[in-house]
Amino acid sequence: MKIAVLPGDGIGPEIVAQAVKVLEVLRTEGAKLEMETAPIGGAGYDAAGDPLPDTTLKLAREADAVLLGAVGGPQYDALDRPLRPERGLLRIRKELNLFANLRPALLYPELASASSLKPEVVSGLDLMIVRELTGDVYFGQPRGIEVRNGERVGFNTMLYAESEVRRVAHVAFGIAMKRGKKLCSVDKANVLECSELWKEVMIEVSKDYPDVALSHMYVDNAAMQLIRAPKQFDTIVTGNIFGDILSDAASMLSGSIGMLPSASLDENNKGMFEPIHGSAPDIAGKNMANPLATILSAAMMYRYTFADLATADRIENAVKKVISQGLRTSDIWTEGTQKVSCSKMGDAVVKALAS
Ligand code: NAD
Repeated sequence: MKIAVLPGDGIGPEIVAQAVKVLEVLRTEGAKLEMETAPIGGAGYDAAGDPLPDTTLKLAREADAVLLGAVGGPQYDALDRPLRPERGLLRIRKELNLFANLRPALLYPELASASSLKPEVVSGLDLMIVRELTGDVYFGQPRGIEVRNGERVGFNTMLYAESEVRRVAHVAFGIAMKRGKKLCSVDKANVLECSELWKEVMIEVSKDYPDVALSHMYVDNAAMQLIRAPKQFDTIVTGNIFGDILSDAASMLSGSIGMLPSASLDENNKGMFEPIHGSAPDIAGKNMANPLATILSAAMMYRYTFADLATADRIENAVKKVISQGLRTSDIWTEGTQKVSCSKMGDAVVKALAS
């Protein structure tokens, strides 16, 4: 298995180094892993004048999976739009056709007090959001800003082809099958034709998965229910823009964004795996970032691309163990627990993996 390792900017290199330590342990045990590092985002711009250098894209195409840190930083904010770090990220997702974005929101019982919701509302939360990632209003044409009747108007197009809905539906039903067999499709079909089609296709695809209970919810209600009673959900599937917003809301249920991994998959389960947070320039270079979201992203790589569930479980259990031992980076630290650095947290996971 070849992994393209793209640390990116800010805390990216620090957190990716901890996940690489974990992968190195597996390699010394005999896993056939090859890792190659390349720049992306601001680092890509610095190295080659492009947030997604050709050599990085080539490596990512040839690899079986991509492990990414984060991109972006204030020093790049004044660049022309196509040169900005975030463009590198959008482009690699599109170039690799990563249309299904999986974002688990899981609350470790020991971290229940870090959530902004009452512990009884969130304790034991285990939710998966499947967000379509390459379509919708973010990519639909026409789009633009132009003058009409003497004033400027801005416009975008919400657009889904049924094939795009069908393929993400299959991913979501497949995941729901392996989880609690409950899938909630979130849309705005009472107002938007695009959502009406989304809902119809979801119902068609559901016939292939008779064991999964499909339900539908309007996005405004889903936003409310996620905060009111998040444990009612098992797996959620939704379009790009609704998923963007709902998955960020869901991330806060579990306390710190430093804990949450993600996967973006193509049709063959090749994927890019990355923490959901950004490059955290405010703490970059201080060895204090939480590397667990990145380590858990490596676990998702094993689960979804390498289909090695035992190793995925093993990495996740190692993370659970360090949490239960009371080790905390500063973002999740509370009185009575032991504050550790980013690299110490990585070392602790490596140790837990071996025991
Ligand atoms: P951010 O996620 O980088 O940081 C938000 C807050 O969370 C900060 O206080 C930060 O210190 C903290 N934080 C984030 N990750 C952490 C971790 N692992 N451990 C401890 N604390 C952590 O979001 P932002 O500040 O809005 O954006 C910073 C830069 O990151 C911007 O350039 C933005 O464009 C970029 N960004 C990149 C991605 C990505 O690469 N996928 C995602 C979001 C933002």
